[in-house]
Amino acid sequence: MFMKYHILTYGCQINKADSERIAAGLEKRGYKAANSAKEADLVVVNMCSVRQSAVDRIFGIPMKLKELGSKPKKLVLTGCILRKDRKKFEKIFDEIKKMPQRDCPSALIPISNGCNNFCTYCVVPFTRGKLICRSHQEILKEVKKAVESGLREIWLLGQNVNDYKSKTVNFAGLIKTVNDIPGDFKFFFMSPHPKNFSDELINILSQCKKYGRYLNLPIQSGDDGILKRMNRNYTVGQYKSLVKKIRLKMPDINLSTDAIVGFPGETVKQFENTVKLFKTIGFDIAYVAKYSPRSGTAAFHLKDDISREEKNCRHKILIKLTKHPSFVS
Ligand code: SF4
Repeated sequence: MFMKYHILTYGCQINKADSERIAAGLEKRGYKAANSAKEADLVVVNMCSVRQSAVDRIFGIPMKLKELGSKPKKLVLTGCILRKDRKKFEKIFDEIKKMPQRDCPSALIPISNGCNNFCTYCVVPFTRGKLICRSHQEILKEVKKAVESGLREIWLLGQNVNDYKSKTVNFAGLIKTVNDIPGDFKFFFMSPHPKNFSDELINILSQCKKYGRYLNLPIQSGDDGILKRMNRNYTVGQYKSLVKKIRLKMPDINLSTDAIVGFPGETVKQFENTVKLFKTIGFDIAYVAKYSPRSGTAAFHLKDDISREEKNCRHKILIKLTKHPSFVS
């Protein structure tokens, strides 16, 4: 009988990538992904200490798991843990583990900062400001340096990577030149926006031998009305045809997504459209968040009218529909 694991991920995209690494490591050791924390023998909490509210939430997890009927044999905490909090966490977790050393050490290379998109639920354009792209040469220099120092995994990071543009290249051009750097490495990127994932980019990626064949393509909702109110600027149909094109060119791609449940006014029917989309696409990994209002955003002025229980229920449904469930609440 296989031991089953479940990973709860909090925080940024780097934490998401780390959770995927933890999942891969556990599977190598014979663990299987559980459909929920309730079924898991091992629950790993990958935390983030960026905000105090995020730290406070971690203290409530053991109780929350109990309430959900989850009784893991082991509850492990990992991620970004401040020294001052460690002692308190030791009392409520079975084990605190350092993030395992990467089998394949990676370099996290920012290519841009900020975002011009103004999705109505997101604070990034207000906290980080407008999109600023680093120079092409500077990025290539950093990638070369990382590869020469023996790093085998290169992550190109930005809030919206496919909006990247320097004086000389767009994102597709940057990808091509990263792929041309000599050395034994794979590269990845996070996160692109589905609205401007061009055919040129798909073609180039499909020809890049060093592309790690993992793609996080945030859908956020499977309903056109909600997508419009989120200001995402694509439709479900466009997203599906994009995935179709990507899979046609790269059948071995591992696809993950981000989704939000309980956006203000999300009806049962609209949520069912997201369920339908999840079933159609069959994501390898999904990071599902329960909507919570963020001050300063356009959606903050909308009534947060979906109850906590309903958000929990929708969250569970989506998590069950992914091959390697994970959640961001
Ligand atoms: S969700 Fe992503 S694309 Fe939308 S505003 Fe935030 S960072 Fe930009």
